[in-house]
Amino acid sequence: MPHLQQRTALIAAARSLAGLGLNTGTSGNLSLRTDHGMLITPSAIRYDDITTEMIAMMPLTSDYGVWEGPKRPSSEWRFHLDIMRARPDIGAIVHTHAPYCTALAMARRDIPACHYMVTRFGGADVRCAPYALFGTAELSALAVEALEGRTACLLANHGLIATGATLDAAMGTAVELEMLAKQYCLSLSIGGPVLLTAQEVAEAQQQFATAYLPNE
Ligand code: 13P
Ligand code: ZN
Repeated sequence: MPHLQQRTALIAAARSLAGLGLNTGTSGNLSLRTDHGMLITPSAIRYDDITTEMIAMMPLTSDYGVWEGPKRPSSEWRFHLDIMRARPDIGAIVHTHAPYCTALAMARRDIPACHYMVTRFGGADVRCAPYALFGTAELSALAVEALEGRTACLLANHGLIATGATLDAAMGTAVELEMLAKQYCLSLSIGGPVLLTAQEVAEAQQQFATAYLPNE
């Protein structure tokens, strides 16, 4: 089967979401860019029941919305496809209804500069995209916009989108975003955080670039 290794990795990542506290049931979906197009999890099938051939393949540059595979791709294939088309830097996308991100998304709140780790997502905040019905082109357009200059966003009254150059990176983004959302929610419950200034955010970005490098 073509792209067997990537299909297997996508299923393993999907199955790990529950243990990471990031998802339950058939909510959420994942995609991975390949040399042939985008692999994406099928719609409404429990991750434990997904097999490698059930992962759909969708072309990225032609035949918008066409898929190969025995099962329909995720109902959110539009935003997966549109994000990959708009953002060549993104190789994998994870969408879940993680509890703390979703709690903030239900309140339609951006995550502000409440912790220096916010800069890990590309800027001084993580935006919450306005509400649109799941599975729609409208939601997709709003998600692409909320992700501008960022690796993650919230979706109002819905959940999160986390991205990365690789599947591991996208999963890491999702884990870190849910932790930041949890810390922000906890802080809100004791009166709310003191936010970092623009200067402090810039310094944190600089520090990551120069003093927090991979430890070989
Ligand atoms: P799918 O099962 O179609 O991927 O949908 C789950 C979901 O989270 C929709 O937003
Ligand atoms: Zn969803």
